[in-house]
Amino acid sequence: MFAVSPERLRALITAFHEEMRRGLAGEPGSLKMLPAYVDIPTGKERGPFLALDMGGTNVRILWADLPGNRSVPVLVGDLFQLSRDQISADAGVLFGAIARFIGRFLRTRGLTGPQRMGFTFSFAIRQRSIARGELIGWTKGWTAQGVVGRDVVELLNRALAEEGVAGVRVVSLNNDTTGTLMAGAYLDPDCDVGCILGTGTNICYRERTAAIRKPVGPYDKEFMIINTESGNFNAALPRTRFDALLDAGSENPGLQAEEKMVSGKYLGELVRLVVADVCTEGFLFGGRLPALFAVPGGFGTERLSEIEADVSPNADGTLALLGEAGGGAAPGDARFLREVVRSVSGRAARLAAAVLAAIVSKNDPGLDATHVIAVDGSLFEKYPGFRARMEETFRELYGERAGCLRLAPVSDGSGFGAAVIAAASSSG
Ligand code: ADP
Ligand code: MG
Repeated sequence: MFAVSPERLRALITAFHEEMRRGLAGEPGSLKMLPAYVDIPTGKERGPFLALDMGGTNVRILWADLPGNRSVPVLVGDLFQLSRDQISADAGVLFGAIARFIGRFLRTRGLTGPQRMGFTFSFAIRQRSIARGELIGWTKGWTAQGVVGRDVVELLNRALAEEGVAGVRVVSLNNDTTGTLMAGAYLDPDCDVGCILGTGTNICYRERTAAIRKPVGPYDKEFMIINTESGNFNAALPRTRFDALLDAGSENPGLQAEEKMVSGKYLGELVRLVVADVCTEGFLFGGRLPALFAVPGGFGTERLSEIEADVSPNADGTLALLGEAGGGAAPGDARFLREVVRSVSGRAARLAAAVLAAIVSKNDPGLDATHVIAVDGSLFEKYPGFRARMEETFRELYGERAGCLRLAPVSDGSGFGAAVIAAASSSG
């Protein structure tokens, strides 16, 4: 069920091109294709900047003094975790917590005087300029009231004022994918694609401004980064009944179809749904579902990583893991579970690669140029074999020419990238 043939991937790529076209033309479709009002950096951006990265598992704040020579400066940073209540209450609670965190950071680091800040907000935002943008809709389980449709820079500025955090001026807004591309391109001029493979997934790329057929706010550069919001892609996907089941039980049914097949928030749940189903049929665990698989969302993608790392012929490591979790498992159960894990993660890596291939091949069908793809996210960084299977898929699709597609991990890309964007937009 989870195997995806090369023909299927090619059909997906064709469908993706059509969705990109629609999104750029402002026609209805699954890709928002959001203008980011920024082009890749020159590498000469310099100066001290704050960067706030909000919307991931942790909130991060960084201070960086960009050297202006394509090298990564020393990053001084801190992180904190928002509580369930803070992401699900309202705008005041959420941004108040962020503002207090920023204030604490400035105090503990002794940063006084005016500070320019770049703001990474890892959700779909509709921007009209580099320094403002409205939240289109929450994803990834965030639900705070009073933020959708509002300018998040204004919400942050207001919270900073209310909490008495003086001197900080938000000069730019971007999402995490754009931040990742900017960080990657600051380091390497061949970087023209940014990709997130973490809790969620998304891709942005560099487009000719003239190719954006829908109305765009004031912007005078020849190229602009487009945030595709690829996680919402929903055409020619090889969906199974387990994908339908996962979608129905999610907080955003009908949305983020590709993300639900690819990203860290969902892969564990997909495996759980398959296991529960086969167990109910009586073919696994003697028909008694171990507690590990009983609760929706209770089987995390980190678990999949552990199982994937088990390369023993008989899945002994997986059996031990099941034993520790307190289930009565037989060797056959462990082998089957590992097979499910490999199938679900294999499909994810192949789809992730195909969507990247679609983005690059839209403007470079012959893969004539080198495209460095900056990637940020724990799934890509930590999942055994995920990157290798993506690269294998590139080769399957393009043979020799696949060498033009170079995946480049940029850890902290979304944070550091916000500082780069702040610098790029401050220097005009
Ligand atoms: P975010 O995307 O929230 O900014 P990350 O990039 O760190 O943050 O991604 C976190 C997600 O990555 C987690 O939700 C989890 O699904 C996944 N993840 C974290 N650690 C691992 C791991 N060791 N193996 C596989 N997936 C992981
Ligand atoms: Mg992140």
